[in-house]
Amino acid sequence: MTEKKVRALCLFSGGLDSMLAVCLMKKQGIAVDGIVFTSTFYDLTTALKSAKQLGINLIQKDFTTDIIGLIKDPPHGFGKGINPCIDCHALMFKRAGEYMKENGYDFLCTGEVLNERPMSQNKKSLRVVAETSSFGDYLLRPLSAKILPPTQMEIDGIVDREQLEDLQGRGRKRQMAMAKDFGLTSYPSPAGGCKLTEPSFAKRMKDLKEHEGINNLKNIDFLKIGRHFRFIDGTKLIVGRNHSDNEYIIANVNKAENYILHAANVKGPFAILPKKSSPESLELACSICARYSDSQENEATIIRVKFLEDENLVSVMPMQQEQINTLLI
Ligand code: SF4
Repeated sequence: MTEKKVRALCLFSGGLDSMLAVCLMKKQGIAVDGIVFTSTFYDLTTALKSAKQLGINLIQKDFTTDIIGLIKDPPHGFGKGINPCIDCHALMFKRAGEYMKENGYDFLCTGEVLNERPMSQNKKSLRVVAETSSFGDYLLRPLSAKILPPTQMEIDGIVDREQLEDLQGRGRKRQMAMAKDFGLTSYPSPAGGCKLTEPSFAKRMKDLKEHEGINNLKNIDFLKIGRHFRFIDGTKLIVGRNHSDNEYIIANVNKAENYILHAANVKGPFAILPKKSSPESLELACSICARYSDSQENEATIIRVKFLEDENLVSVMPMQQEQINTLLI
């Protein structure tokens, strides 16, 4: 009778740590698939590239509803941006655990390294994540396993603890040496891939959460482009920064609910303002739009204000930079 091959499901970001976790499992003859959670906040390029290099199957699971729910109310709070990392990890592990059970894997593994990240990879966080996910008993951290309590997989002998590692802290020397030993020719630098950790995006996301709310995915996607302004009465204005922003605005704006603003007599950006805005906000918006057009500082600019088939021309002076700064998100 042939022995059933042990199968692991690795939570796979495509960073060096998760690549090494896969390599450590493969070294023991364990079959590994990767799983990555997708959302509008997360760039998959690294995961896809690294999975290809390792020759592993990468399962993609949509995580959008889950992560938006956590941003609304994260039980363990946020990191420096608007990143609910502890709860996000726990929920990813839970979803991965559910997938593991449904698809006959033996356990989950991750590339987490003890104390590598201050918020999400200290001993307490690793424990909280394991407990909250409901799949803690199936969770192996091969890179730090030797300095963590033995898991059931090690106790049962389906994973050889001796062949696991004892990494901790932020230094990357040992990881790089291991990468060399495993013949990994290229691997990404440690920088993220999650927009929720980026300060400027986090600021816009917090503003959106406070005002319009974060249920509308289109509103979230707009945070990735343009300049964003919030007026005192709560009105939001988005102004394109370059040709690609302008194209995005034209292609994606909800024309039934927004004005589209654009300089009529000189070159300038496209801008979006809600149709329900007050006349005062409309004038402010035109003035900002003029500021980013090619008109001179003290020169009146004609802004075309379009709503569906209606068009009006508004003459305004470009807003002064000091005032602009007070409205920028
Ligand atoms: S960095 Fe982003 S994707 Fe990663 S755990 Fe934190 S919130 Fe989740």
